[in-house]
Amino acid sequence: MPGVPDAADDLEEVSANLRGVQERIGLAARKAGRAPDSVTLVAVSKTHSPPRIEAALRAGHRCFGENRVQEAQMKWPDLRTSYPDLRLHLIGPLQTNKVKDAVQLFDVIETLDRPKLAAALAEQMTRSNRRLQCFIQVNTGDEPQKAGIAPKDADGFIRACIEIYGLPVIGLMCIPPLDEPPALHFALLREMARRHSLPELSMGMSADFEEAIRFGATYVRVGTGVFGSRTAA
Ligand SMILES: *Cc1c(COP(=O)(O)O)cnc(C)c1O
Repeated sequence: MPGVPDAADDLEEVSANLRGVQERIGLAARKAGRAPDSVTLVAVSKTHSPPRIEAALRAGHRCFGENRVQEAQMKWPDLRTSYPDLRLHLIGPLQTNKVKDAVQLFDVIETLDRPKLAAALAEQMTRSNRRLQCFIQVNTGDEPQKAGIAPKDADGFIRACIEIYGLPVIGLMCIPPLDEPPALHFALLREMARRHSLPELSMGMSADFEEAIRFGATYVRVGTGVFGSRTAA
């Protein structure tokens, strides 16, 4: 049928997007004097359907991000059966009543941002005998409506997550304010990670991932650049 996208169109478009983004990641890394494979692309598949996600999987991509536990539960168990080596990151806020489902479904939690959640995650990981890598989300812009630990509380919280809750914290994550140049926020996050000897930095999205790489990002979260617009149905 003309005009109606099918699986072959999805595959062609998503593969081309993935190649383009990976190429830009590689260039940005080399410009920063880093190895291209020091940056992992998290393909953000929120709102996109399983067939479209499967196009990325068939193109060989394995690392994905979702922002809602419930949406991810509907989409990912089947995909995981077909592609057991995929890695799924939770990049949206996590309510404590969803911790059990999140620990079962995800491989990485990027949005650890408060003591109550740290305690719930630690308990559930023990209970289910699973160790999910965690990023601590820092609200670098101190925006009241945004998730993430406030910068002034971050050092203490990072220490508590590691020393008190015993969580496998591998790095920090941030989402800079929309209306500010992101560089200052990327630099702040890098400095904070350095203080705590945390090796990973999740920062940079479709609009600014190259700049994030310049500031040391090891994970970039790219949705639109890989899957296209989320509003066009
Ligand atoms: C949606 C989302 C992204 C990807 O945004 P794009 O601009 O589409 O690349 C990255 N990080 C988080 C936390 C998101 O919610």
